[in-house]
Amino acid sequence: MNYPALKINLTKLENNTRLLVEKCAPYGISISAVTKVFCGMTEVAEAVVKGGAAILADSRVENLKKLRNFNLPKMLLRIPMLSQIDEVLEYADISLNSEYKVIEALSNAAVKKGKIHDIILMVDLGDLREGVWADDAVEYAGKILQLKGVNLKGIGTNLTCYGAIIPQEDNLSKLEEIANMITQKYGIKLSIISGGNSSSLYMVEEGRIPKAINNLRLGESIVLGNETAYGKRIEGTYNDCFTLCAEIIELKEKPSVPIGEIGVDAFGNRPTFVDRGIRKRGILAVGKQDVRIDGLTPIDSDIIILGASSDHMIIDITDSTKEYTIGDIIEFTLDYGALLSTSTSNYVKKVIE
Ligand SMILES: *Cc1c(COP(=O)(O)O)cnc(C)c1O
Repeated sequence: MNYPALKINLTKLENNTRLLVEKCAPYGISISAVTKVFCGMTEVAEAVVKGGAAILADSRVENLKKLRNFNLPKMLLRIPMLSQIDEVLEYADISLNSEYKVIEALSNAAVKKGKIHDIILMVDLGDLREGVWADDAVEYAGKILQLKGVNLKGIGTNLTCYGAIIPQEDNLSKLEEIANMITQKYGIKLSIISGGNSSSLYMVEEGRIPKAINNLRLGESIVLGNETAYGKRIEGTYNDCFTLCAEIIELKEKPSVPIGEIGVDAFGNRPTFVDRGIRKRGILAVGKQDVRIDGLTPIDSDIIILGASSDHMIIDITDSTKEYTIGDIIEFTLDYGALLSTSTSNYVKKVIE
C-alpha cells in the first residue's frame, strides 16, 4: 500500500446510510445522499445507494458527472452557474435554485434540448446562505411555473450552514406553509419538500419534524454519523468509515521547545510551545497539502499531534503503550473538514476496504 492513504470502509458506510434511511422512512422522508465530501467517488457512492438513498446529491457538476451511471436521480446542491447551464442539464436531473435569471436560462437551454429540468426552489428561513426570502417564495414559484423547460418539483431550505441556525418548528413549519400556499394558489402538487441537511435529523428522532417534509439531504450524518444541530453522535452509526493512514519517517527524542529565537513558521504564524521536557517524537509523511490537520484524531489516543507543515506532521508518542518504529503506520479518524480536504488532495491514495 502507498501512503498517505484514505481507507474507506464501504460496509460501515452502507450501514450508516441504511440506519438513517430507516429512521426517516416512517415519517415518509426520503434521503438525498450527499456525496460532495468524498468528491463523488463512484465506489463510495455505490455504498450509499445500497444503503437505500433515493437521490444522489452533490454541489459540483464534476462529481455528478462521475455518478452518471447510477440509476437514481442526481441533484445539484449548489445554485447553478450561468456559465455551466449545459453541463447542469446534462448531468443533473434536479437542481436547487434561487435566482430567476438562472432558472430562465435552464429553461431556455432545456427547451432547445427537448428536455424538462426539475427545480427545487430554495427558501431562506434565516440562515442567510442560499434561498429566496420566505415572503417572496409564492410569487417566485408562480414565475417559475410560466417557464416551459423547467418543472417546479418542490421547495427546500438549508439551515446550519452559514448562520448556524438550528432547525425548529417555527422556521421549518414555514416551509410547510409556503408549500400549502403554492398548492392553493396554483393548483399544483409539489412532490419534494426538502427540509434541510443533517441538522434536521434531531427533529425526526424527536418526532417533531413538520409533516409536509418528505426529503432530507444528508452528508455528514451518513459519512461520520454526526447529528449537526447539537453536534451529537447518532447511536448505532460508525465514525470511522474513513481513516487516514500515514507513515512514520523519523523517530527521535527531542526537547519539546525549539532552540533559538522564535520567528514565524512556514505559514506565517508565530507558534507557541508547551514544555514537557525531552519527548519521543515522530515525523509522519503527511501534511497540510494532504489534509486539514486540526480535524484529525489519532486512533491511538495516547498520541499527541504537535503540528504540521506542508508535508510533515509531528507527533508526540511518549505516552503511547505501543513501541513504534520507522515505517509504522499511524491512523486517524477525521472530522468533516479533514475528510473534505483529504478527499480532494491528489496526494492521498484512496483505498477501498
Ligand atoms: C452540503 C449540503 C448538504 C449536506 O449537509 P450535511 O450537513 O453534510 O448533511 C445539504 N444541502 C446542501 C444545499 C448542501 O450544500
